[in-house]
Amino acid sequence: MNFSRHANRKKMREISSPVTKTTKLIGTSFIRALVFGVILLAVAGAAAGFGIANAIFDSAPELDFNDLVPEGYTSFIYNQNGEVIQELSTGDANRIYVEIDQIPKHVQNAFIAIEDERFLEHNGIDMRGIFRAIFVNLQSGNMSEGASTITQQVIKNNILSTEKSFERKIQEQYLSVQAEKVLEKEEILELYLNTAGLGRGTNGVQAASKRYFNKDVGELSIAEAAVIAGITQRPTYYDPVINPKNNEEKQKLILSYMLDQGYITQGQYNVAKVEDVYSHIQVVNQEFEAQSDYSYFVDETIRRVADDLELQKGYSNNQAINLIYRGGLSIYITQDDDMQTILDGSFANDENFPTFEDDYNAMLQFSLSLKTSDGVKHYYEEIVLQSDEEALAYMEQLKSEWMVDGDEIVNEHYLIIPEPQAAMVVIDYYTGHVKAMTGGRGEKIGNQTLNRATQSLRQPGSTFKVLAAYLPAIDMMGFTLADVYDDVPYTIEIGGSGSYSPRNWYDNPRSEFNYWGLSTIRKGIEWSMNILAVRTMADIGIQTGFNYLENLGFTTLVDREEINGQIFTDKNIVLPLGGLTHGVSLLELTAAYGTIANQGVYVEPIFYTRVLSHDGSILLLKEPESHTVMKETTAFLLTNAMEDVVRSGTATKARFDNMSIAGKTGTTSDSKDLAFIGYTPYYVAGIWLGHDEPEKMIHNETYHKLMWSDVMSQIHDGFENVSFPVPDGLTRATICTESGLKYVEGLCDHDQRGSTTKYEYFVQGTVPKDYCDVHVKAVVCEESKLFPTEFCPDELKVEKVFTARTEPLIPENWDPEDPPRIKGFIYELPATVDNEFCNIHTDALPIPVVEYDENGNPISPETDTETEGEAISPESPVIEEQ
Ligand SMILES: [Zn+2]
Ligand SMILES: [Zn+2]
Repeated sequence: MNFSRHANRKKMREISSPVTKTTKLIGTSFIRALVFGVILLAVAGAAAGFGIANAIFDSAPELDFNDLVPEGYTSFIYNQNGEVIQELSTGDANRIYVEIDQIPKHVQNAFIAIEDERFLEHNGIDMRGIFRAIFVNLQSGNMSEGASTITQQVIKNNILSTEKSFERKIQEQYLSVQAEKVLEKEEILELYLNTAGLGRGTNGVQAASKRYFNKDVGELSIAEAAVIAGITQRPTYYDPVINPKNNEEKQKLILSYMLDQGYITQGQYNVAKVEDVYSHIQVVNQEFEAQSDYSYFVDETIRRVADDLELQKGYSNNQAINLIYRGGLSIYITQDDDMQTILDGSFANDENFPTFEDDYNAMLQFSLSLKTSDGVKHYYEEIVLQSDEEALAYMEQLKSEWMVDGDEIVNEHYLIIPEPQAAMVVIDYYTGHVKAMTGGRGEKIGNQTLNRATQSLRQPGSTFKVLAAYLPAIDMMGFTLADVYDDVPYTIEIGGSGSYSPRNWYDNPRSEFNYWGLSTIRKGIEWSMNILAVRTMADIGIQTGFNYLENLGFTTLVDREEINGQIFTDKNIVLPLGGLTHGVSLLELTAAYGTIANQGVYVEPIFYTRVLSHDGSILLLKEPESHTVMKETTAFLLTNAMEDVVRSGTATKARFDNMSIAGKTGTTSDSKDLAFIGYTPYYVAGIWLGHDEPEKMIHNETYHKLMWSDVMSQIHDGFENVSFPVPDGLTRATICTESGLKYVEGLCDHDQRGSTTKYEYFVQGTVPKDYCDVHVKAVVCEESKLFPTEFCPDELKVEKVFTARTEPLIPENWDPEDPPRIKGFIYELPATVDNEFCNIHTDALPIPVVEYDENGNPISPETDTETEGEAISPESPVIEEQ
């Protein structure tokens, strides 16, 4: 492509440097040749005898010539059938070489002011900067603070990888000093300004100027120059398109440095400070993005290939992006075209989403550029409205406000983003292959737009009950699905900071019952009961739950983090209710449930399997990381309980015929996030519905479950209906669901509500040995349902089965204005206090009434304490066990 590149190939290999930059001008090739010459000199010098430097050079990693970034080749993305589904190419737009005299002084100075204020004085390294950095590092205790001069950055961007090791730093400093001996400051600056990574795949000030402002670098204002100079240290964080606030802070800082260092006057500073550059950036960005749009899947693949090239191959982000778009790569993705088509079809159908009456918003993004008598003016507005029609009408209104007679429209763009938004991902949990994914609904315009399946962190809500509480309890603490907690008013002390009383989702004035009483863990899962989850968490310990979550592949949980001077942690009692500091991604949540589906083995979700270089050799092979999180028996029990969720619990809407389905709903208490993660013996899929800016949703919370069913039923069309696999080590036994213990004939099966026996699965060795200690028989007066007095007619005295909680409820402690409405409370044995005797047949003092034990045998007060704790064997209990 150009002679100097080829002429230098052999030498480049000798010095192990992955250098490649597009250069179109002979002059720049000359400078490049000089740089390479410098490096050769450096190597020669080191070889000649600088012991330490020599050793460091010798230890530099050997880079294969194939790792060098080739230029100008289109890359291809292949689907699983080996068909090309996407060509990747940015053309030459992302790097355009300009010579230093084409770059205005204020652009040069903006970079010098922020990156290297002593650039014109130092000899390649800045000793003052280094000492300051050492001081900062010692203070902060880590070695992250760099003190890279512009010269060092030229070396780093072009010669060395971005690895932050001490050796690399020495190499970089050494080469920088050598470079300064041979090159003029202007030449170094020109190289720097043409190679610096400036975000969105651009290298150099000309490409960035085109990308953000649609003009040549020579036309940039001072304010615009400072925007671009602000990007280089952290291109995503300071991205002026998606993070204009961050960029603006940096831009203002740069302007103040330029003023302080004498590069601009106070007058220029005042003008630049108030110039509105960011609305123009939005306009240009929309024009740019309208030109190309890759799918969410392709976007995600590009991000991941870039990450892996950096991590595994030591490329800088710039080099990796360049290689992906221009390196002639073949990228093989895991996407299944048919499944993706099904998913896209479901998401494209507006009838699958809340309607206008239910809950619909339209976010309008409108930009307008006008040619006016004062030159071109740019306008931009973003606003959430009630409907598309309203958005379009508002757009017309804006137009009439912004335009005056004689104005001419240069550019006009609008986008209506429907709300609530949604995302879905389908994974083959056995291989980790992501089969289909969508990161949003509505038209996707542009590349690397927000992916709500992989990038948005949202509250997982109730989906965390299984993962954080029940899974560890069963896997590690010997819990069973039959274990019972009382769903009654519950308060837990939180270490020193007060107390917490969880509320159930059915705790509202319209519900007949706001507590459901004695309930098994199976029921807690089926009906997503908050108090059961929190009580389980309290018993197993928060750290245990947290460890399991980390093992399930969640990467965004907070152990301890300081935000605005406050300490945050996800290690707290609400962990199973999914109240997290940052939240989790839908992808990670789905993969965690895939772990249960995959019989306890976590498999990292992947989007591509391999990447080949332009010459066909393997550049990256993706083997998903995999490890065992839980026992097979634990996974089975959870799956079995979660089949109830879909069969008869909170997710019946997700069901479709002829397929085993298990899953868990996730609703945050304020209905800002709705999720359902479900799986079959074939695939796991997760769906999320919510507003981009979290907001309470008012619709009936069924849309996402119906959509999950719509997509998954089509994916499974024609699949054999098999059961979930049953591992060894299980047994079954009949228990009583009020106590979680062995059932007692004549009692548990004679509960006034019907039999409370349940044929339950257990891990061998965990079948309860004791008999139900909750059910009791007692004689009451049929009319008052209370203990009979001597005045109650004999024919009204009846024997009934009651519950008698081992942890008695104390109604005296309840708020008389708003007592808890506990399901089944009327069947609780009245406590033996005066007012528990029949209040209908009362003519005299009541006679003492005998208490009964769980087998219906009378207990006399004198022997009560003696019999306590003794196992009372029923006469002929029929216990089923295999
Ligand atoms: Zn019982
Ligand atoms: Zn009575």
